[in-house]
Amino acid sequence: MSHIAYVNGRYLPQRLAQLSIDDRATQFADAVYEVTCIWNCAPVDHAAHLARLARSLEAIRIAAPCSAAGLTAICREVVERNRIERGTIYIQVSRGVAPRAHPFPADMIRPGLVITGKHGVGPSESVADQGVKVIAIPDARWGRCDIKTTGLLGNVLARQAAVEAKAFEALLYRPDGFVTEASASNAWIVDADGIIVTHPLGPEILGGVTRTTVLNLIRAAGYKVEERPFTLEQARTAREVFLTGTTTFVMPVVQIDAGVIANGVPGTICRDLRRRYRAYVEQSTASEAAWAT
Ligand code: PLP
Repeated sequence: MSHIAYVNGRYLPQRLAQLSIDDRATQFADAVYEVTCIWNCAPVDHAAHLARLARSLEAIRIAAPCSAAGLTAICREVVERNRIERGTIYIQVSRGVAPRAHPFPADMIRPGLVITGKHGVGPSESVADQGVKVIAIPDARWGRCDIKTTGLLGNVLARQAAVEAKAFEALLYRPDGFVTEASASNAWIVDADGIIVTHPLGPEILGGVTRTTVLNLIRAAGYKVEERPFTLEQARTAREVFLTGTTTFVMPVVQIDAGVIANGVPGTICRDLRRRYRAYVEQSTASEAAWAT
């Protein structure tokens, strides 16, 4: 089936959809984006994704391309035109088109808006049942990882290293030994005291929408949780390690580099959280409320 993309006011077959070579997304990664999971033809945590998009836009001073209601209408149209039952939508907003020069264009330009859709989401349940291997790699990204910009070269190189090592993801660590997150997911451990730990919000990590939902599920389930940094060494010797993200859901990690985590099978807490998150996805996409902003 050919995909339909929304580009700056028009719905087009994706193979015909194009951006100007002077769009600042192409030259400067002067753009931000969101990826939302579609389940039961409806978005998971749509309002939270739009809120993060608004924060990212504000952080780099790009005007909103349209209202939240307008964005929602286009997202719905993309889901419907592409008949996405389970998949993802991608929203990208750039500063717009202007002759290449580093400073913001002096004249007001219209932000560029692209929304595309994709069928299929995340790895299979059997991958999650077995758990995945990750590699550890130095975090070589810039200092504002909290902004979801399309400037993803550090993430791309880390993920490529993971692929070449036949690993699912790359855990990123700083020179001080602390793990920030993974190339496209947030990282968590369960420590020796049974406390679930994840890096606090701040410029070092992207505040994952899934991270927030999983924190809520953790608290509702009565588990102990702390938002504090943990080291790579603590991860290697943790009881459990897992990742969260829009397309990953809750993914157990059973190996970091050559080292097996605990007894090498997904731990009880992360399996329980994956089950709870799956139930949340089902339940939250079952009604019209999924599209509320
Ligand atoms: N961290 C990074 C670097 C990411 O790119 C992503 C998602 O793409 C995440 C974390 C998880 O964020 P979310 O749960 O909003 O998908």
